[in-house]
Amino acid sequence: MTPQPDERHDPGTAPTAPVPGPDATRVLVLNSGSSSVKYQLIDMADGSRPAAGIVERIGEDASSLRHVPADGEPRETVRRFTDHGEALSAVAEELAADGLGLDSPRLAAIGHRVVHGGQRFTAPTVVDDEVLAEVERLVPLAPLHNPANVTGIRTARKLNPGLPQVAVFDTAFHTTVPEHAARYAIDVETADTHRVRRYGFHGTSHAYVSRRTAELLGRDPADVNVIVLHLGNGASASAVAGGRCVETSMGLTPLEGLVMGTRSGDLDPAVILHLHRVAGMDMDAVDELLNKRSGLVGLCGDNDMREIRRRIDAGEDDGHDGADARRAQLAFDVYVHRLRKYLGAYVAVLGRVDAVAFTAGVGENSAEVRAAAIAGLEVLGLEICPDRNAERSREARLVSPEYARTAVAVVPTDEELEIAAQTYRLLTG
Ligand code: AMP
Repeated sequence: MTPQPDERHDPGTAPTAPVPGPDATRVLVLNSGSSSVKYQLIDMADGSRPAAGIVERIGEDASSLRHVPADGEPRETVRRFTDHGEALSAVAEELAADGLGLDSPRLAAIGHRVVHGGQRFTAPTVVDDEVLAEVERLVPLAPLHNPANVTGIRTARKLNPGLPQVAVFDTAFHTTVPEHAARYAIDVETADTHRVRRYGFHGTSHAYVSRRTAELLGRDPADVNVIVLHLGNGASASAVAGGRCVETSMGLTPLEGLVMGTRSGDLDPAVILHLHRVAGMDMDAVDELLNKRSGLVGLCGDNDMREIRRRIDAGEDDGHDGADARRAQLAFDVYVHRLRKYLGAYVAVLGRVDAVAFTAGVGENSAEVRAAAIAGLEVLGLEICPDRNAERSREARLVSPEYARTAVAVVPTDEELEIAAQTYRLLTG
């Protein structure tokens, strides 16, 4: 859909916030999920992280807050946090107890992860009432995530109305995907009326990792073409040309694309019709099947790649004559096959590829997945050095041989740092 002028976020009328003082270099990053809030305080002056933590099971009796100050012991509170308001108030109190409260003059802003920014939000945005209303208007596109993000922003505004709040959108990095890649081949009017198109997700991770990969190569991101494989519990691929995303595997929702921990990724859309008409499943049941009981867990009962590898390695000794191992192997093979299809497709999309970067839980840690994904692709200039690939490290590093035409890299993602950096950059210019 060609964005209508009134639908695009116009930077000329974007709300602005006062420029933070020279000592206000810290950003509190908030990631509000449906029943959890993760937070990290990051100092953009030196990259330090004075505190971090998580509130889990909000709304349940045994909700908990784990607060981890950089200079002290972790503190755990187990009690009922009825809603995000109570949870965030408790977080603010913990931060204040360490002298890091929301009224601290060193705090420049709160940066909020917001899952869906639609076509309108192409960049981080200072939140005002109008922006908040627009994020709410996008709830039908992300019914599980945007409501929690909105609640997080509202609550944070109440706790310190004077503090700038910045929304950083998971979809923003993908708004550069060209029309021919973003549009599904369905009736244009139906698609446009219901805002059906490819939006893509994990954008802060793809932005961060593609830039870090260029840095690792010692090159300007504007000159580098990278395929980013974000393989966590959710998984997505993107093709990034000169710093701009030109294709990504997640679509209208995070269900499309690669095989994930519990999500199916790509399938024939008629599977849904079939399950409804022939198996008698209603839409909620299909939704639950495809999002929660598919992917690795649907194929073999486990969504953790470590456990899948353990089952494969146990082989015939699994106590079930190898049946557990065979199912795990099937899940691994389906996962890797899909990954390789995307890799090949994105080489074709980009034409010239300088690097393939693996990131997130599986991408950063599973040498087996990386080796299987790249095996036999020398014809595409892709090769892995077994010794480099086997090395364990938390640093960004190359795992291809020195002579390889295309670099293969492991680049740990850091979505919190990216959100903090985008927030700080927006305010300080
Ligand atoms: P994320 O969503 O990025 O936190 O990734 C979580 C997933 O990473 C887990 O479900 C595991 O499948 C995978 N993972 C984490 N650590 C390892 C590891 N050491 N080896 C293989 N997979 C891992």
